[in-house]
Amino acid sequence: MKILFLQLPVPTLVSQKSIGNHLLASSSLFLHAMRMNSLSAHQLSALPQEVCSRGGDLSIINAICEEKPDVLACTCTVWNIERTLYIAKKLKSKFPDIKIWFGGPEIASDAFFMNDSQEQPFDLAVEGEGEEVFRSLLQGVDPAKINRVYVPNNKKEISVFPQALKDLHTIHEPFIHGFAQMEQDGVVLSELFRGCKYGCLFCRYHTGDMKKTFAFRPYDQVKELIDWARSNGTKEIFLLDPSFEQRPDLDEFLDFLSGINRDPQISIFAELRAEAVDKKLAEKLKSSGIHHVETGLQTVNKIALKNVGRSFDKVKFVDGINNLQSVGIKIRPDIMIGLPGDTPEGFYETAEFVKELGLASYTQVFKTQILPGTILRKQAERYKITYEKLPPYQVLSTPQWSKELLDESLYTAEELLGTRCAPEDSPVLVFSNQTQQVRKFNNTEIIYAYYFDCSSDKGREFIVNEEFKHASCTLSLTCKVDRYDQIDVVRKCLTRFYEANPFSSSIVAFQIQPLFPLDIFDIVNEIKQQNCHSTYLQSLFPTTYSRTPHRRMLAALNINDCQSCTKSWLSDLRDIAEVVWIMPFSLLRNGTFETFGRIEEVDYLYLDSANVSIQEKTLQSLSRSPFGHQLIFSDMYTQWRYIELRAGE
Ligand code: SF4
Repeated sequence: MKILFLQLPVPTLVSQKSIGNHLLASSSLFLHAMRMNSLSAHQLSALPQEVCSRGGDLSIINAICEEKPDVLACTCTVWNIERTLYIAKKLKSKFPDIKIWFGGPEIASDAFFMNDSQEQPFDLAVEGEGEEVFRSLLQGVDPAKINRVYVPNNKKEISVFPQALKDLHTIHEPFIHGFAQMEQDGVVLSELFRGCKYGCLFCRYHTGDMKKTFAFRPYDQVKELIDWARSNGTKEIFLLDPSFEQRPDLDEFLDFLSGINRDPQISIFAELRAEAVDKKLAEKLKSSGIHHVETGLQTVNKIALKNVGRSFDKVKFVDGINNLQSVGIKIRPDIMIGLPGDTPEGFYETAEFVKELGLASYTQVFKTQILPGTILRKQAERYKITYEKLPPYQVLSTPQWSKELLDESLYTAEELLGTRCAPEDSPVLVFSNQTQQVRKFNNTEIIYAYYFDCSSDKGREFIVNEEFKHASCTLSLTCKVDRYDQIDVVRKCLTRFYEANPFSSSIVAFQIQPLFPLDIFDIVNEIKQQNCHSTYLQSLFPTTYSRTPHRRMLAALNINDCQSCTKSWLSDLRDIAEVVWIMPFSLLRNGTFETFGRIEEVDYLYLDSANVSIQEKTLQSLSRSPFGHQLIFSDMYTQWRYIELRAGE
């Protein structure tokens, strides 16, 4: 049997340097099956990471078809379930014999896709920890007999009860033996233990088999991981372990870690409860290499904390933060908005609290998600909580938070904390003197930027024939138009693109002359609404400039035409699209530009970096200039470097 794993990435507004889609889940299933001698007669593989993490829907479907697997095994999470369902349906309609297996945290009896068996494109769905279930499936056990396996339209007669892993030795080490690859940022994800003794009701981690039992990675394997990281240029090991301080062997483990993690020491990121950190523990964490921690504060409102089963000791929390800060450990606190019983005042107080601790700019703020399979979802009605029925399942209103206040809450958080709740969204565009051009990710066929000159016959021919087989899931498409009647060819092209890649985040840019009719943008609006399969990004990041951040529109103007644009035309244009000014390099003088009227703070300034070599020191001085936040580039790699420089990395 040929089994192909598929794990789709977190959707993003624009391409990110690091995606974090490390294929750990599929690696764990594969490694466990291999070490338990269950692979005979089976061939297991995963789609190449660049294709599954950067590719658009069509390129992924085509890549799966080329592999011709008997089984497609999909890891389903809150961020990819809608897209995974779409791809699974497409495959089933092309190849009715293909078997599709679902697993991952999205599989729960109250998930939106579990009600209607007619709509289920999968042959089975596994709930909870998957390694032992997967092994049983490879051994040919009838899925209907396996506990925690849902089979559409099938009566269960359970006789096989797969257990949670007792320790994690069989899943060592996905970056050495599995499918996982370290990304360009040098970060490696790792699971050193499973299990959680806490019981937060918004979380599903503790409701499975591993409720309060722990499974550990043996110490010698931890040493192997650190040695491998050191010899492979790893910058950080990011631990997925829940509340690191709850390890029963914490002291002994940290002594061991500080002994093996030196010369040079690899930086480690861990999540923990700040209340548990006294001076001695802070020093031990630091000497073990734990230089960065995330701590779930969520709220200071005692009623809300009690409602979701969390404790909070303000004095100990402050002490813990001070202890961590005194040894130089960076801290990222989390705040959740809209927990049951919490109030807007509770949120303001929580924001004030992190500000007083000097952590405002590092704080992550989320609206509470009412996730499938959680106790909070079961209690939502009791608390009169309404929430999105589709991912990301954010809370929409509570008796204490009106819908209007919750809609505004992330804007309020940005104001109170002086941070941004939306991720980086600077677009990468390509403009060209040629009739058509594309830009690809290095060493792949995946295209992240297209340019078509629709003002020429040849350019229109290209756009008519483009099928977007290699388009990325984060794509920019620039069309130069100089007459309104060229719009029809663009309309057809966009229809084709969105039909083939409905889940791609797209930026459509029209390169136009001053005073060009603005109803050209109506077609984009019309098409993008028709083919919108998910509102995940839009819902999660309302504070971005665009109201449809995953389907953006830009207008590109030549800076030399600046004075030909009337103020009123520009103002109307900015109401419907983001404006980008194409700047020639010749305007750049000693790290600054000549000043132009008509440019506003919200506009982008575009530099063609693909055809000009830009020195690092020029990039550095641009990044510090007053207009540094407005600059964008024509190639992804310069843009990523520039973003790093602006972030001070
Ligand atoms: S949120 Fe973290 S600490 Fe709470 S139950 Fe889940 S894993 Fe455990």
